[in-house]
Amino acid sequence: MKKFRDFSKWFDEVLFNAEIMDNRYPVKGFSVYKAWGARISRKITSMLEEQLEATGHDPMLFPVVISEEDFQKEAEHIAGFSAEVFWITHAGKRRLQKRMLLRPTSETAMYPMFTYWIRSHADLPLRIFQSVCVYRYETKATRPLFRMREFLWNEAHTAHKNWEAAEKQVETALKIYNAVFERLGLSYYVLKRPDFDKFAGAEYSIAFDAWNPDGKVNQIGTVHNLGENFAQAFGITYEDMDGTHRNVTQTCYGLGISRTLAAVIAQHGDDHGLILPPEIAPVQVVVIPIPYKGAEEKIAAYAKEVYEKIKAAGLRVHLDDGDKTPGEKYYYWEMLGVPVRAEVGPRDLNERQVTLSERTTLKRSTVAFDETVSAIERLFQKITTELAERSRLTLKKMTVDAKETETLKKAIKERKIARICWCEDESCAEKIKEETGGEIRGHRVDTEEKPESPCIVCGKKAEKVVYVARAY
Ligand SMILES: [Zn+2]
Repeated sequence: MKKFRDFSKWFDEVLFNAEIMDNRYPVKGFSVYKAWGARISRKITSMLEEQLEATGHDPMLFPVVISEEDFQKEAEHIAGFSAEVFWITHAGKRRLQKRMLLRPTSETAMYPMFTYWIRSHADLPLRIFQSVCVYRYETKATRPLFRMREFLWNEAHTAHKNWEAAEKQVETALKIYNAVFERLGLSYYVLKRPDFDKFAGAEYSIAFDAWNPDGKVNQIGTVHNLGENFAQAFGITYEDMDGTHRNVTQTCYGLGISRTLAAVIAQHGDDHGLILPPEIAPVQVVVIPIPYKGAEEKIAAYAKEVYEKIKAAGLRVHLDDGDKTPGEKYYYWEMLGVPVRAEVGPRDLNERQVTLSERTTLKRSTVAFDETVSAIERLFQKITTELAERSRLTLKKMTVDAKETETLKKAIKERKIARICWCEDESCAEKIKEETGGEIRGHRVDTEEKPESPCIVCGKKAEKVVYVARAY
C-alpha cells in the first residue's frame, strides 16, 4: 500500500484531494482547514465535549494572551515552554511596557483566575475545559496536522482537595479519552512517560501514542497529575472543613484535535483515499443515480426517493445528481472517505432495490428499498468494527520485542515500535536515542508488563518494560 511505502507523499495527497487542508497558506506552520476537514474536526470535538460535560466539566473560554508575569510563576513550566513562545511586544509602533504571549497551553491563563473562584472546600472539585487553538513556535520540521505552530485542541483543567481525588480524576480522564479514541477505531499505547519526558510542571504524565504508517508514533492525548506545583506557584488554596488553608491538587489533560484527525486519516485511509468511521463522517451515505438511456427521469426520481428515505431516518446523506459520470463520482466520494455509497441504476429501479457499496472493502450488495435504512445501519456497525480491527492488527504487527541493541536498531529502522526492558536510568535512554533515533515513550498503564530480561543498554536489572519509537 502506498501509505506504508511513502507516507509523507500519500498523506499530503489525501489532505489536498480529500479537501481536509490547503497547505499553501503563506506562513510556515500555519494552515487552512477546508470544509471537509473542519467538519470532521468539529465532529471529533463535539464527541469529546459531550463526554466532558457528562462527567461534570464546564465549558469556558479563556483569552489567547497571557501576561509574562503569570507565565513565569511556575519555574519548570516556563523552562519547558519558553523556547516555543510567540511574544507580543508591540502595539502598532509603540513598544509594550509589559510583554504578552500567545498561549502555548493555558495553565498560566487559567490558574490566576482559579484563585478568585476557589475559596472553600465547597468550591471543589472545579472542572473546566475549552476547545481552542494554541501556539507553539516549533523548531522541529513542521508537518500538516502533526506538528504545526497553531493547532486545535481541547484542554481540561481540574482542581481537587487532595492527591487521592486528583488520582481519581486522572482515571476519569483516561476513560474519557479511551472512549473517544475507541469510537474512532484508533489503536494506540497508553504510556506513562519517563520522568525526564513528563509535562513541564507535572508530577507525572500519561500519554496516548497512536501508531502511524511511517513508524513515528503520534501523541494524540495526554493526562497529567500536577500535584500542588501550580497551586503553590499561583497561591490556589481553599479553606477546609476544619478551618485550615490547604493547596489544591490539580490535573490537566489535552486531546489534540488536529493530531486525532491525523491519526484517523493515517490509520484508516487506503490507496483510494480517506476512510471515515460513520460516526464522524460529514456525509455518511452518498446516493448516486446511474442514468440509463430512456429511463433518466425515472431513475432520477427513484434516486430522490432513496435519498429522502435515508434522510428521514436521520442519517447524513447526500444526493450527487451532478453532471459528472458515475465513475467520476465514485472516485470522488471514495477519496473523501464516505462510508457507504448507494447506487441507483436501471436494474435497481426495476427490482425496487438499492445497491450498497462499503468503503472499507469496496464490496457491493443489494437490498430491497424498504430494507435500505436498516441495511445501512448494519453496514455502519460492520465498518466501524472492521476499521478498529484492522488498526488493532497493524499495531500488533508493528510492535516487536527487542532484547539486544542490534534488534532494536533494526526495528526502529524498519519503522516499528520496539518493546524493551530498561533500568530507568536516563543515560541508557539517551544512548538509545543516539544510536537508534528512537525514544523511550514509557510503560503501559492499562496492563502490567514485568521485565523478563536485563536492561537492553547497560545489562543491569531492568525496572520497566517500555516502548521505543520515533515520534512526531
Ligand atoms: Zn540501563
